[in-house]
Amino acid sequence: MGLVGERGMRRGVYLTVGAIEHAQRDIAKPWPAAAFWKYMARLVDTGVVKVAKEHGELGEEWGLRVARAGGGIVGTRERRVRAAAEWMQKYVTCREGVWEVKIGQLDSMVQDLTRGESSGRARVTRQEIYCAVMVIAAEKKATVQVRMLGKGGAKREWRQEWEEWMVQEKWFGAGEARKVMDAAGLQIKDMEREILTVIEGGAGYYGATDGLLQEVNRVVTIDRESHNLGELRGREHPEITAEFCRKGKQTVVEMAMSRGKVHRREVVGLWFSASCGPWSTGNGLGKSKGVGKGPHAGQEVEPEELQAVDAMIESVDKFERKGKGGNRYFIENVAWGGLKDHPPMKAAFGEGSRHGAREGIVMGCAYGLKHQGPYRFWTNLTEEEWMPRVAEDYCVHCREGTQHEEVMIPGVGDHRSRPTLPGYTMEAARNRVPPPLAASVARGFLKAHETRWKKKRRRQDQE
Ligand SMILES: [Zn+2]
Repeated sequence: MGLVGERGMRRGVYLTVGAIEHAQRDIAKPWPAAAFWKYMARLVDTGVVKVAKEHGELGEEWGLRVARAGGGIVGTRERRVRAAAEWMQKYVTCREGVWEVKIGQLDSMVQDLTRGESSGRARVTRQEIYCAVMVIAAEKKATVQVRMLGKGGAKREWRQEWEEWMVQEKWFGAGEARKVMDAAGLQIKDMEREILTVIEGGAGYYGATDGLLQEVNRVVTIDRESHNLGELRGREHPEITAEFCRKGKQTVVEMAMSRGKVHRREVVGLWFSASCGPWSTGNGLGKSKGVGKGPHAGQEVEPEELQAVDAMIESVDKFERKGKGGNRYFIENVAWGGLKDHPPMKAAFGEGSRHGAREGIVMGCAYGLKHQGPYRFWTNLTEEEWMPRVAEDYCVHCREGTQHEEVMIPGVGDHRSRPTLPGYTMEAARNRVPPPLAASVARGFLKAHETRWKKKRRRQDQE
């Protein structure tokens, strides 16, 4: 190995990726390539050789690149586990040291990590990533939602598949592999059966998720980024992190369904919280009191915010039309925000629904908020399926015309505090939909869903 760039002998030999490839091409030619990479792998794994960038520091990523270049022989188990763990650190919610990997996240991880760097060479495989995650789960560092169906929805014996794969690839001996899969099994949330699902868009703050989950088994959250919810919950990562824009032919909702492996008939409804930033008169609080951005305050909305809102409108609209009257949605926005005046919104859904609510506004205080928390909503739930609570029936302040305990935008001389939720950040507290409200909407979704499939079954029976 005289040819290759050596650095810092004291800490082992540092080889650049280029040098390794060069060595394989020119010096090790008589060797079969696989044997060469296997040899290199052993050197890297035992720490004799470390992989360096062309000019600069040693990087883990570069070690992985050698692994990829080596047709998956190099590094093997440890490298895959490390790559999976690194990915999870970035994109998966962690509570008390345990990652909660959701179906959509598992799928994204596989997509990201198996993306080959150059064609023609063997890549990291899907199976390797699944098994790496199983190793992490076996160490009780992750709970994992798994949904592995075969062709035509047939049950796949994936646990056994992975166990056999681990043995075959020499990750573990037979007995050990069994132990790993048994231990991992305790952390696996198998989702093979049909599940009642709500897709929640704009869920970065986990706004309606808790409430929806009181009624349905699964909420697939999709948002543009993750948010810190505060010390009580830590950083919450949406199941699907994506820009809100159409991907090829897929709308945002369709993307959430395919990445989250949601079957069409499992979706009982859509919940969308329109980004309250630019559409809220309260935006900018703390910087310039009471002065908002957005159309309501006569200012332009950021182009990317507009694009996100338009992508939401398009995807909800398409979802509704495809359902032929059966697909339900619920969109909420702060009551006095500018969304109702946004022309594409008006064209698709009007200025908001009524359902007997005064001015089409639902009051959060009717659902337990300490401030009035007015929401404007757009929904195709019928009044038989869902009706909002009347604030005067549920809130003493609304009934008697007295001040609520808290206030979203304090006026001059108003010393009431803004909405708070112990253990949560102010942003999270403000963005949280009262769980009883979200739960009541989810019950409406379920009613509509039940009627729809009952009707369909009846029709099928008659045919
Ligand atoms: Zn009230």
